Amino acid sequence: MERFKVLVTDTLAKVGIDVLSQAADVSVCPGISHDELKRIIGDYDALIVRSTTKVTRDVIEAARKLKVIGRAGVGIDNIDVEAATERGIYVINSPDAVTIAAAEHTMALLLALARRVVKAHSAMKTAMESSGTVERKQFMGVQLAGKTIGIIGIGRIGSYVARLSRAFGMRVIGYDPFVTPESALQKGVEWVELERLLREADIISLHVPLTDETYHMIDASKFNLMKDGVMLINTSRGAVIDEAALYEALKKGKVSGAAVDVVEAEPPWKSKLLELDNVIVTPHLGASTFEAQEIAARDIAEQVLMVLRGEMPRSAVNMPQLPPEVREQLKPFMQLAERIGRFQSQICRGGIKLIQLIYAGQLASYDTTPLTNAFLKGFLEVRLSQSVNYLNASVIARSRGIRWTDERSTEDVGYSNLITACVTTTQEQWTISGSLIRDVGMRIVRINQYHVDVIPEGHALIFEQYDKPGIVGRVGTLLGSHQINIASMQLGRESIGGHSIMVMLVDNPVPGELVEQMKTFPNIIDVRSIYFGPVLSESK
Ligand code: NAD
Repeated sequence: MERFKVLVTDTLAKVGIDVLSQAADVSVCPGISHDELKRIIGDYDALIVRSTTKVTRDVIEAARKLKVIGRAGVGIDNIDVEAATERGIYVINSPDAVTIAAAEHTMALLLALARRVVKAHSAMKTAMESSGTVERKQFMGVQLAGKTIGIIGIGRIGSYVARLSRAFGMRVIGYDPFVTPESALQKGVEWVELERLLREADIISLHVPLTDETYHMIDASKFNLMKDGVMLINTSRGAVIDEAALYEALKKGKVSGAAVDVVEAEPPWKSKLLELDNVIVTPHLGASTFEAQEIAARDIAEQVLMVLRGEMPRSAVNMPQLPPEVREQLKPFMQLAERIGRFQSQICRGGIKLIQLIYAGQLASYDTTPLTNAFLKGFLEVRLSQSVNYLNASVIARSRGIRWTDERSTEDVGYSNLITACVTTTQEQWTISGSLIRDVGMRIVRINQYHVDVIPEGHALIFEQYDKPGIVGRVGTLLGSHQINIASMQLGRESIGGHSIMVMLVDNPVPGELVEQMKTFPNIIDVRSIYFGPVLSESK
């Protein structure tokens, strides 16, 4: 079996290289120049970086074979995600790997601030060097137990900080517009409005992403609302705080102390905050633990191999993020949608005018975007030479002017779930429905007005015909004389002797000339040859 080629351009924990090496040849080139990266990237199937390598549009355009860019960590500011998406390249990261590390660093900063650890240590060193003494009373700290901590952003890290804060005996309040009070409560957080949080908290800790909305979300007006002597921790992104306003608040003593791992402008050692005594600044160390780096390296290596093997990664930045349990539930339906897409693509003749997708039964309660992407992938990949995947299918379809609609229907359709695709072309219209039947598997259950029961696997011939005797015999004889075995047959008819559809699953592909020959047989109107995709079930 061909081995994949993976390029690693930033330092990656050894465990990640070990995982990759099971299925890939790995080249490790930390510190590679931009030009050199552009020169060699064309040979690789995957690229793994951390935050140093800049994966810009020109690098991505030079990457002829690249299928995935892995970021061993969270931030993807150094990757041109749009350029990658346009070319169907997955960008994956490892968002959970650093949660504990970032939350523990938050607590390290909070404890250091509350107990003046850094200043006390510096004073000790100065005393030693100058043979002086240290006055302990100038390092009087504050106790955390009984204090109220206000957590802004109750996501992965915010929730973990809440858990640790409770262990310290603090009252935990939190604000996050995308988290319900009930779900916050399950994380041990009393949900409050932002203004109330600012007014009530003794300690405020920020855990939001940097967005247009969160940029400078803590500015002078917000400092005015805070308790006198509040402590502020920021391990999220520097620009969520207006640093000039923080500087003023610290100078006036409105904020008694601040500890930040992130500043507005890099490099952090040039931050004006360092002029002040009541500030602790660390150089973006939140994710820097051996454990987090190992977890991130292993996770990203596993996900890169998943993509290279054609599976869906756990955490693609340029795909809708689904909770793992939903992803697992949707997976077989995606397979079905993809098969229906392949079927439609091969059966329809003429220019595509419109695709209408309807998701019914239990599917009506899901976000069905991944199913539509899967349909489009199946629909396009049999027609296009370019690589189509779940990620770029909708981009490619749109760039080709293909129009589609998708709707969810709560109508009773007689199946617990049903995916229906109606494709209208310049010449004809085909409606195909499929269902995932418990303990049975995927089935095509309707072709236009005809009810059928077809396993969408392997090769098939679809006949439009008049329901007259003799057809099966003639077709069977022709196929048999070419060593093509018929695996199963299905007939859907309007009335005896009337128009009907016959689906014949065959064990081998049927050459075009045989299909043409069948079209000349009496009572056969048309014949189309279909390949649904590899056989998955053992039922055939
Ligand atoms: P997350 O996506 O799990 O959580 C972020 C939360 O912020 C979400 O729940 C979201 O709803 C909430 N949010 C968004 N806009 C908001 C607003 N206007 N007000 C209040 N809440 C809002 O992310 P995470 O993994 O918990 O990471 C949080 C932050 O920490 C990110 O900015 C990330 O970049 C940063 N981070 C820093 C380090 C470090 O080294 N210091 C390491 C990892 C992550």
